[in-house]
Amino acid sequence: MEREFMEFDVVIVGAGPSGLSAACRLKQKAAEAGQEISVCVVEKGSEVGAHILSGAVFEPRALNELFPNWQELGAPLNTPVTRDDIYLLKNAQAATKIPNAFVPKTMHNEGNYIISLGNLCRWLAQQAEALGVEIYPGFAAQEALIDEQGIVRGIITGDLGVDREGNPKEGYYTPGMELRAKYTLFAEGCRGHIGKQLIKRYKLDAEA
Ligand SMILES: Cc1cc2nc3c(=O)[nH]c(=O)nc-3n(C[C@H](O)[C@H](O)[C@H](O)COP(=O)(O)OP(=O)(O)OC[C@H]3O[C@@H](n4cnc5c(N)ncnc54)[C@H](O)[C@@H]3O)c2cc1C
Repeated sequence: MEREFMEFDVVIVGAGPSGLSAACRLKQKAAEAGQEISVCVVEKGSEVGAHILSGAVFEPRALNELFPNWQELGAPLNTPVTRDDIYLLKNAQAATKIPNAFVPKTMHNEGNYIISLGNLCRWLAQQAEALGVEIYPGFAAQEALIDEQGIVRGIITGDLGVDREGNPKEGYYTPGMELRAKYTLFAEGCRGHIGKQLIKRYKLDAEA
C-alpha cells in the first residue's frame, strides 16, 4: 500500500513527561549548537494529558535542569508539600504515627510538590511548541518502521476510519502515515506495545 510520509530528524512516540522533556531538551541543545532540527511528537490521547491520570508528588530536580525559570514560565507546581505524616496501620481501628526521625529518607517530601501530572504535561507541551516542536495529539504510533537491514526508520501511525474489526469503512478510511526519522524515541510509558515488540525483536532485555 502507498502511504503518505513526512520526514523529521527525530520522532518521539508519546507526550508523557519523558517524551515532552526529551523534545524540549533536543530543541534546547540544537539551539545552543546553532543547529536547526525538526522534532515531532505523536500522542495517542485526543489531547496532551488526556491519558495521563496520575496525581503525583513531584520532585522538581529534573525540571530545575530543563527549565531553571519554570516559575516565571508558569509551570503548574502550585502546592508545595508542607509535611509528611506516616502511619503504621495496626488493624482496622488502630494506627501509630511513626516519628519523623524513623521515616526512611525516600519518604520525605520536603521541597517536593503535589501536582496534576496531566497539567504538567499540558504545560510541557506548550513549552515544547514554543521551542518549535511539532506535536500531533490524536495520532497513535501503530508500529515501528523497520527497514530490510533491521534499522528503525520511524513509525507508522494507525489507520483512521476502520470498524471494530479493523476493516476499512467506506468513505472514511485513511491509511496511517509513515513518519520517517533519523532517530526515533519511544516514550510510550512502561507498557508501550511498540516497546514490547522492540524489546523482543532486538532482545533488549537479554541481560536484564
Ligand atoms: C497511579 C500512579 C501514581 C503515580 N504517582 C507518582 C508520584 O506520586 N510521583 C511520581 O514521580 N510518579 C508517579 N507515578 C509515575 C509516573 O506517572 C510515571 O513515572 C510517568 O508518568 C512516566 O512518564 P512517561 O513519559 O515515561 O510515560 P507515561 O506518563 O505513561 O506517558 C506515555 C504517553 O505516551 C502515550 N502513548 C503510549 N503509547 C502510544 C503510542 N503507541 N502512540 C502515541 N502515543 C502513545 C500515552 O498516551 C501517554 O500520554 C505514578 C504512576 C501511577 C500509575
